[in-house]
Order: sequence, then C-alpha cells, then structure tokens
Amino acid sequence: MRAIPLKLIEDLRNLNVSRPLRFMEVCGTHTVNICRFGLRSIFPKNVELRSGPGCPVCVTPASAIKIGVDLALSFEKTIVLTYGDMMKVPGPTMTLADAKARGGRILSVYSVVEAIDLAEKERDFKIVFLGVGFETTAPSSAWAIKEAKRRNLKNFFLASFHKLIPPALEILASERTLDGFLCPGHVSTIIGLKPYEEISKRHKIPCVISGFEAEDIIIAMLKLIEMAEKKEYMAFNAYKRAVKEKGNIKAQELLKEVFEEEDTEWRGLGIIPKSGLKIKEEFSDFDAKIAFKIKDESVKDIPGCKCGEVLKGQIYPYECPLFGNSCTPEQPVGPCMISSEGSCAAYYRYGGLIEP
Ligand code: SF4
Ligand code: SF4
Repeated sequence: MRAIPLKLIEDLRNLNVSRPLRFMEVCGTHTVNICRFGLRSIFPKNVELRSGPGCPVCVTPASAIKIGVDLALSFEKTIVLTYGDMMKVPGPTMTLADAKARGGRILSVYSVVEAIDLAEKERDFKIVFLGVGFETTAPSSAWAIKEAKRRNLKNFFLASFHKLIPPALEILASERTLDGFLCPGHVSTIIGLKPYEEISKRHKIPCVISGFEAEDIIIAMLKLIEMAEKKEYMAFNAYKRAVKEKGNIKAQELLKEVFEEEDTEWRGLGIIPKSGLKIKEEFSDFDAKIAFKIKDESVKDIPGCKCGEVLKGQIYPYECPLFGNSCTPEQPVGPCMISSEGSCAAYYRYGGLIEP
C-alpha cells in the first residue's frame, strides 16, 4: 500500500460542499478498501458513500446455488466447479459446501482453466462450471467455451450467471437517490468509458472510474464531488494507468461472439433487462442450462437478511438487525457477509460499526 499524501487528505476533508451528496461505490474491492483505509472518516460532512452491487457473489441469486446443488446431487458422473466464495452462500435448501458434504462432487477453483483441464482429464464425467461475475470474469468463460470446442471436449458445460454492470447502474440511477457513481476499475478495463457516458447523459449523474489504492479513491472522490457540485454530467477516467477509453476491444469481441444479452435476476435488485449473458445458440452444446434442462426459477431470499437493501445502497450493513449478532464472517447468514468483497463483511472487519 502506498502512503497517502497528507495534502490529498486535507483537500478532501476541507472541501466545501454546498449540499448533501450521496454517491455509490459500485465495486466490491472499492468497498473493502474504503473500509480498510478508513476513508469515510475523511469525507466532508455532507458527503455520503453507499456501497453498491459490485460484489459478484453477493448479487448472484439463490436460484444459482440451487442449480449448483441440484446438478451435484441429482446427476450421476457430474462434477460442479465454481469460485471458492460461492461455496458458503445459502441456497433455498443448502449451500454448495453442504451439498459437497452430502457426497455431491463440487470443487472450488481459482479459474475456469481448471475446469477445462479437468474435462480433458476426466472424459467419463460431465464437468459443469458455474460462471459468476461481471465483465471481468465473463471473457474467461467465453474463452473456455471456445477452448472446449477447439479441444473437442463434449463433457464441458458452462452454467452462465454472468452479469453486466451498466444495466444495474441504469436501474440505480433511474431511482434518482444518488448524485454520482464511483465506477469499478477492473470492469472498466473491459468496457471502457462509453457505457458510463451514456448513463451520465441519460440520468444526469456523474461517473468517475477509480483505481484501488487509497490515493486513487481520494482523487476520484475529489473529482466526483467537483462534478456533482458543478452539475457536470459526464464520465471521467481517474484510472488512466489501467483503463483505456475504449476498454479491451478483444475481450468485448469475445463476449459478443459467445454470449448474448438476456434479462436476468440480481439478488436484491430483481430482474434487470438485458443484464445477463446467455450462451449463443452456436455454442449451445456447452450450455449447462440446455444440456441438463435447468429451469432458472426465482427462489425466495434468506429470511431476515437485508442484502437486497444493502446492495441497492438503501441501508448501511450495520442497519441490518442481524449484523454482528447472528450474522458474522464466522457464522454468515447472507452473501454480503460471506464474500471477501461483500459490504457486510467489509464493514464488520474494518470497523463498520462506526457510522460514517
Ligand atoms: S471484479 Fe474487480 S471491478 Fe469487479 S467488483 Fe470485483 S474488484 Fe471490483
Ligand atoms: S448483515 Fe448478514 S443478514 Fe444482514 S444484510 Fe448483511 S449478510 Fe444479510
């Protein structure tokens, strides 16, 4: 971690802000770092920063967990692979970890490459990868499908729960409760500035792309406050060392080649039009939802858990009655306390009990 120049801290702390401003950080890693570095304590008094839907595990609905559990327990010679954080997320009946304890073949992996390699090695098994995440992880899932085709792997399948960030921002911006977005660094390396420019214009809301160091976040916040005060409704790239204006064209093309947009459910945000990525017909042999005749039906969220409101920035994590009581990182109730990028876990770990 780089030391934060004192001048920047003073600039932010002493900024004169003429009206109450409420912003949202969209990315889960921003949430964690803002809590970890205690940055809320140096915001001007009438500036609020709410956490948004940027944790991929948190916004994956319970129905996805149910599908993973069903695949592992109800189908013979089937191995389900997914990212580690998904294992403890409660589904309607059990977690993937519970299903594994009951004999389901479920493995947690770091990358979809492991699923492809396993499919090559274990030709008698069907290998299903639960693809979650945003524009950052979706290109690797798209690559995996093309790679499976290239290697002629007829036993590799992807269950796509991938989501797109801009449609979620559209919904949040349209509610008119926010004065600006602190936009995600990694997602922006893929999508570039254009999607934010459109949202800014359409909803009269500034968007600033930020890096992940404390210094990056402070600089981005200074810019966001300035733009909100001046009513400059545009997108600004404050993370130029990583984000190109046009994003990663190759990754965008890969996504377009393999996936098409579909309406999809987000935990807490409901169904958002054209916010999901469905495998195109050309690659449907690799679509687990088709191969296993999976119905992606909505299931009820966890009773008492307020992750939905947390993900929309309607409440702070500590406003959930279960926070720190029956819900802790050791005994999590909802996904926002389970995931390493979840808001509830970040507030709990780094002093979120203190109001900003
Ligand atoms: S993938 Fe990167 S940009 Fe997206 S939520 Fe996670 S840390 Fe943020
Ligand atoms: S504290 Fe726990 S129960 Fe409450 S919203 Fe967060 S994850 Fe859900």
